Amino acid sequence: MHPSPNALDQARMSYENHLATCRQCAADGLQCAVAKLLRREYNNQNRASLRGLADAPAAQAR
Ligand SMILES: [Zn+2]
Repeated sequence: MHPSPNALDQARMSYENHLATCRQCAADGLQCAVAKLLRREYNNQNRASLRGLADAPAAQAR
């Protein structure tokens, strides 16, 4: 498995783009199910790329 920076970028852009355009997410600061999925995808990509590029421990952000 080789996560590319491009995939990480795309996951992040999808997530940020969703937050910028989704009314439900903007309404209350509460993220909808789609946002949670996108964020999880981004976190997975981020963790995978950190593991691949460096030995730095991945941030356990929740
Ligand atoms: Zn949303």
